[in-house]
Amino acid sequence: MHIKSIPHILFKLFVLFLILLLLQCERYEPSPDKPTQETINQEMARNLFFKHYTSNTDAFMDYVVKLVKTKDDSLNLILPLVQNYGIPLWQYSKSIKSTRNVYSLTIPVKAFDQDSLTSLLIFTSTPRDTKIRVFEKRAKYPYSDKLKDIFLHYESTIFKGFKFATRKTVPVHEGNSTKCVMAITTCFEVYTSLDLGATWSYSYTSCGGTTYVWIDESDPPSTPIGGGYPEGGGGDGTFGGDGGGSGNSEPTVEGIDQRGYDRLTTAKNTLETVYCPSKKILESEWNNYLTIQINSNLAVDNPAAFNSNTNTIQFRNSFLINDSRLLHETFHAFQDTYWGGGNPTPPTQMAEFETFLFVDLYRHFNNQGSMWASGLSDTLESQYLNWLESIEQNGVTNITTAEYSTWFNRFISVMTNYSNLPIGSHTSPSAINSVFELCHYNN
Ligand SMILES: [Zn+2]
Repeated sequence: MHIKSIPHILFKLFVLFLILLLLQCERYEPSPDKPTQETINQEMARNLFFKHYTSNTDAFMDYVVKLVKTKDDSLNLILPLVQNYGIPLWQYSKSIKSTRNVYSLTIPVKAFDQDSLTSLLIFTSTPRDTKIRVFEKRAKYPYSDKLKDIFLHYESTIFKGFKFATRKTVPVHEGNSTKCVMAITTCFEVYTSLDLGATWSYSYTSCGGTTYVWIDESDPPSTPIGGGYPEGGGGDGTFGGDGGGSGNSEPTVEGIDQRGYDRLTTAKNTLETVYCPSKKILESEWNNYLTIQINSNLAVDNPAAFNSNTNTIQFRNSFLINDSRLLHETFHAFQDTYWGGGNPTPPTQMAEFETFLFVDLYRHFNNQGSMWASGLSDTLESQYLNWLESIEQNGVTNITTAEYSTWFNRFISVMTNYSNLPIGSHTSPSAINSVFELCHYNN
């Protein structure tokens, strides 16, 4: 028996070897008709990119597709996306309108030749612009644990028979945030298995921040790809559904780490708590399509800045975020609203002085010193603090033009970095006045 069976076994092994060899050949034989991920051209990439897209299933998705098609020639979006990540599964995408006029669309992207996801594409639109972000499954983001659960959730939904060795996720409830990934679902119940998926037991619930997922702008970067949605005035009603009334649009926050976000939250809460005028500024501007971001390229003497054209507040780093600086930049946004009817107004010396005066009034109310007057002589500094006190007592309307221009000249003599700006035409504190009126400060 032993002697017989050895050649038998050898024969079996030989057959197995042949089969393996055949399989091997089949697997590695290049197919001339089938392009690989690296060899596809732009035309093929476009076909693959929109392969699973069906028009008229979602208005925002249609908008995004139209935008991407229009911009692809100039931005070269599609080919590198397909080469690097694979094929978007539009049929599993999720479109949400979270707050007034802010939309987002999340699209899982399937690996080129296997049943797994490589990334999520997220398009976010405000009336101002539309941005795209790519969240890679393998990337190490600060929030990558939650991303892992989201990818698991998508993969278990999309791929039949997808096996999870140790974990699977079940969404608990829908989120209502636009802030990228967490917009999809805010919580997951995570189940674990000790028997390769035969039985599952509840392990823990993983919840994201209810409003924000903090994303380092470089990790992953967001790329502006075009106009806002809905464009023009007419679109809003079409996609409304919730009356278009009391919604809001919290700032888009970019590149700010958790510590910076905590500082931002504290600063905002402080501004909203005690002093009526600062509270009114936030009421006016916070939900007015602001973007708040870190820009490490700001000059050393420039801890924060406001860009009127993009409605963006920048801080040089997250340590520099505090209530006074946030108020300063938000007041510039308010000047646009008040002077420009929402349109950008160019930075001027007068606009800076009014802003510094407003922040100093806030600081004086909170027993803090001036943001600029320490550069004056001691006598002038105390005169200035007395002036703030009298404004607090008597309101803005009692400031004479002469007084205002005297302090403006002293301000510019100290704050020489503003001397290159045009002087500007706002020779009275009209924006402050309009805020004080809301607080019944003026008699
Ligand atoms: Zn300023």
